[in-house]
Amino acid sequence: MDASPARGGRSWRDTGFGQNMGMIYNRLVPCNLCGSESFSLLYPDELGDRAATVDYDFSPQTRKTYRIVKCEACGLIFTNPMPALQSSYEQTEDETYLRSRPQRLRTADRLVRRLLQYKNGGDLLDVGCSTGILLDAASRHFSVEGVELSPWAFEHASARHKVYRRPLRHLGLEKKYDVVTLMGVIEHFEDPTAEIRAIHDVLTPGGLFVVYTGDVGAWLPRILGKTWWWYQGMHLFYFSRSTCERLLNKCGFDVVTTENHCTYFELHSLGISLRRYRIGLLLHPLLNLPGVRNAIVPLKLSGEMLMFATKRGGVQSDRASDLVARAVMV
Ligand SMILES: [Zn+2]
Repeated sequence: MDASPARGGRSWRDTGFGQNMGMIYNRLVPCNLCGSESFSLLYPDELGDRAATVDYDFSPQTRKTYRIVKCEACGLIFTNPMPALQSSYEQTEDETYLRSRPQRLRTADRLVRRLLQYKNGGDLLDVGCSTGILLDAASRHFSVEGVELSPWAFEHASARHKVYRRPLRHLGLEKKYDVVTLMGVIEHFEDPTAEIRAIHDVLTPGGLFVVYTGDVGAWLPRILGKTWWWYQGMHLFYFSRSTCERLLNKCGFDVVTTENHCTYFELHSLGISLRRYRIGLLLHPLLNLPGVRNAIVPLKLSGEMLMFATKRGGVQSDRASDLVARAVMV
């Protein structure tokens, strides 16, 4: 399908998508990575003008998405027309997220140990820090700050850390950071290029940028198709290793290494996540047994992408090659 609105002599800017369609302001956008206006349809719209559901229970409603397309020029997969979901974040409150703190803290501790292999201290900014769990773990080794737009999560995080409640690119920060982390956030941005450039601006030369998101090109997501857990209404971009690396290159970064992100799960919470799959229905009762349900196990799943990059240019080239050498050693 050619979704390019250029057909018939009309540009994508005047196709009528720029009008308010209800709760969600839809507009057709060009590819954020390459600027192309030719797309093929991957999945049709299931939400219309309804707001996407935000929760961590992976309910059937959470998994409904807006129309998802693939750029015919570069392969980037994203939601188009692009909904404006800002107000959904402002209403977000999630007790399930709070209950999962023990497993999230273990995941954060492990990530911090990985960060320390590249940078043994300095200033760290976690963009989209949620309730501040990564800041908690990182604060033992780094001087930490966060950015968080959800008032509910901001309240939790700012009780313990310095947190900004505005998008990074509107903050006008003079301060530079040695490390910026973006964990499970890039897929929510309406304009990832602008946000990643803002991150580039606040990093020191040679600074480390760490991105965690899904990898739509990995073998497990390819098998699961639309039932892959990253397909959710709140997610606007579905990167692969290749499209994510291209975006980072475009924004002034060199990718140092990419690996499968290790996530810790309490077994009963893993059971909830797996319920949508046939194997999960069989496993759910077992994972809920007393003595089993609270056990925490690490999983490195296909399609969970953790990318380490450094800010390119000038004096940092030596430091970048040093980081590559260290990455190869670990
Ligand atoms: Zn493209």
